[in-house]
Amino acid sequence: VIEARGINKRFGEMQVLKDVSLSVKRGETVSIIGPSGSGKTTFIRTLNGLEVPDSGRITLNGEVFFSREPNEPKKEQRLPRLAQVEKVGMVFQQFNLFPHRTALQNVLLGPRYHRRGSAKQLELEALEMLDKVGLLVHAHKYPHQLSGGQQQRVAIARALAMRPAVMLFDEPTSALDPELVGEVLKTIEDLAHEGMTLIIVTHEMQFARRISDKIVFMEAGSVLHAASPHETFENCNEPRVRQFLQEFK
Ligand code: ATP
Repeated sequence: VIEARGINKRFGEMQVLKDVSLSVKRGETVSIIGPSGSGKTTFIRTLNGLEVPDSGRITLNGEVFFSREPNEPKKEQRLPRLAQVEKVGMVFQQFNLFPHRTALQNVLLGPRYHRRGSAKQLELEALEMLDKVGLLVHAHKYPHQLSGGQQQRVAIARALAMRPAVMLFDEPTSALDPELVGEVLKTIEDLAHEGMTLIIVTHEMQFARRISDKIVFMEAGSVLHAASPHETFENCNEPRVRQFLQEFK
């Protein structure tokens, strides 16, 4: 479904992404792990156009969204294509719901702007998405009337409502109180079982191990290791990966 090849990105003097490649097939779940500051967030932001790489190539369903050779002069700031933003859903650490809109209205905002369909049809679909994340009964509540975990599930429904080809999650539970983490992980796990294509930056190692088809370990802007959970957690020969995982035991 989505493929990134040779992605490079620097912020000023700092090379934040060094030749990062990742290929994710339809229905796969890939978790990206690694130390803080290794470039995980920056990388997934390039996949939906929130961050523009200096060079590399990104394709979605075979369509090239971004392509620039390493030595190609940066004549103009290339903006992400709208289709890239629409087809790649993203859920952030902070849920960023509109406080003066209900859960349903938050979910409906994107589709109303970007998708075709009658108001009734879009609303029915939005309610369906809220149902999928277990929040149908809270559809008319405002964010402040919902727990953090519920708000994050609204944010997931909001991303799903755009019918994305891929969902990106950037540490979706790290802003939550520990007792609310489980319900959000469960929601993501349900999506994985339904066959949604997922790319997840996470520090929840047991979760990553359980639901992922592939684990990618990033360090200092590079992919150091990419393998199945079994190979990563049981058999990894890479000392840095073993050391990192040890810290979570
Ligand atoms: P964490 O697990 O802490 O979220 P990460 O692996 O996701 O870390 P990134 O957030 O991608 O890492 O950051 C990689 C590096 O790039 C960090 O050193 C960070 O300070 C730097 N960085 C990120 N965004 C910017 C920016 N907009 N401008 C300058 N530097 C940035």
